[in-house]
Amino acid sequence: MTNEELWQTVLAQIQFSISRANFATWFKNTKIFSIEDGKAVVSVENSFSKEWLDNKYSSLILKSLRELDGNVKSIDFLISPEKNFSSSVQGHSKKDFSIPDSQLLFQELVVDQKTNLNSHYTFDNFVVGRFNEVAHAASWAVSENPGKVYNPLFLYGDVGLGKTHLLQATGNKIIELFPNKKIKYLPCERFISGMVDAIKNHQIDEFKKNLRDVDVLIMDDVQFFTGKEKSQEEFFHIFNLFHHSQKQIILSSDRSPKAIPALEERLRSRFEGGMLVDIGTPDIETRVAILKAKCEEKKMDIGEDVIEYIASNIRSSIRELEGALNRILFFKKVNNKPLDLDSAKKFLGNIISIPKKTTNFKKIIQTISDFYDLKEKEILLQTRRKEIVRPRQIAMYLLREELNESFPSIGRRFGGKDHTTAIYACLKIEKESKENDELMSEINLIRQKLYSGLNVKN
Ligand code: ADP
Ligand code: MG
Repeated sequence: MTNEELWQTVLAQIQFSISRANFATWFKNTKIFSIEDGKAVVSVENSFSKEWLDNKYSSLILKSLRELDGNVKSIDFLISPEKNFSSSVQGHSKKDFSIPDSQLLFQELVVDQKTNLNSHYTFDNFVVGRFNEVAHAASWAVSENPGKVYNPLFLYGDVGLGKTHLLQATGNKIIELFPNKKIKYLPCERFISGMVDAIKNHQIDEFKKNLRDVDVLIMDDVQFFTGKEKSQEEFFHIFNLFHHSQKQIILSSDRSPKAIPALEERLRSRFEGGMLVDIGTPDIETRVAILKAKCEEKKMDIGEDVIEYIASNIRSSIRELEGALNRILFFKKVNNKPLDLDSAKKFLGNIISIPKKTTNFKKIIQTISDFYDLKEKEILLQTRRKEIVRPRQIAMYLLREELNESFPSIGRRFGGKDHTTAIYACLKIEKESKENDELMSEINLIRQKLYSGLNVKN
């Protein structure tokens, strides 16, 4: 077994032991750097992950490693010397896993190191309906004629509606049609953090050169440029360069360029200068069609009535449609019997009955404790343990942001502290999240979980 295979097997085990969000957050971009004299060295992306893995997961990792390689006696972490954008969690075949949620996760992580493309996302498995047909047609046209038709192509729409899928499918199609073109799929957040790191390490020229060498640049979720002036400036130059040399740029965002706050005017007008397409929400027929296509893909057979039930109750996100389907698949595996409508209703009740965009104190605390693998009690009671202070401050911050609770009330909830503690926590998290991309993305992940309806354990 090579180190890479060994690590893939370890990851496959670990993902069953911890929550999906934690797995994605802490284990992405990890790999075995070396194994020598019984010591395994795992490389991680940054000091934050290093500290976290070391404190919270080292015994779990060591245990799985030792089961596979009895010679391993100890483990150490190292910040990855490679500064590229690639993800190294890759190469899993689907058949290794039986729990659907984790399959989904690994599909997300099966990416090519150079392009960051995931071959799972194709035009073939993309269902087209009225809500996305223009976006689909424009992406298709771009993939047949990169740099020539719409430049940039800018797709926008709410989360879970297929932007990433289309972007990736376009990249995959371009590779198929133009094998010599260099393609890079880059989430905006990774561009920003890559740039910050490059500046810190005096490698900014190399960073820029790597990007300039690319023929097709696909940048996902550009709303994250909000307030990042330096990154916007650098991107502006890269954008111009691409544009002048007729190299294709494809962008996505969860809102239109106009609605992205704190976006420099010149960048906004560049984004608007190409083809702007929005993706709406799928109608009921398309939702049924998507569910049927996914069933076929997963070779599962579920009743027409169950499909209708899901399609009529989950309206606003294809990701949530998939989530519901995965739960049903899981139910069938575990119970070894098909699912009738009544059991489907019961089984999906907690996804479907939670209306979008509402939350409460209990859910916030549950989601955060789940995310950080802490006990709810630990967050609420007074303890100064370092790994708890920050999650607790984030909880206070979210109570303020999401529920608009008063500071005195927030203080009372956390062991009867006075309002100054709450004010301090909220200001601190607000300030730090602006400066610290990791914290920002953690909070975004928590928010996503909070509103996905899938977080609450029952
Ligand atoms: P976004 O980037 O807009 O948040 P994604 O592209 O990640 O959304 O889509 C969420 C999930 O739904 C993905 O698993 C994707 O494959 C699936 N999906 C989205 N749109 C479609 C579609 N039209 N046909 C099939 N699957 C889709
Ligand atoms: Mg996306």
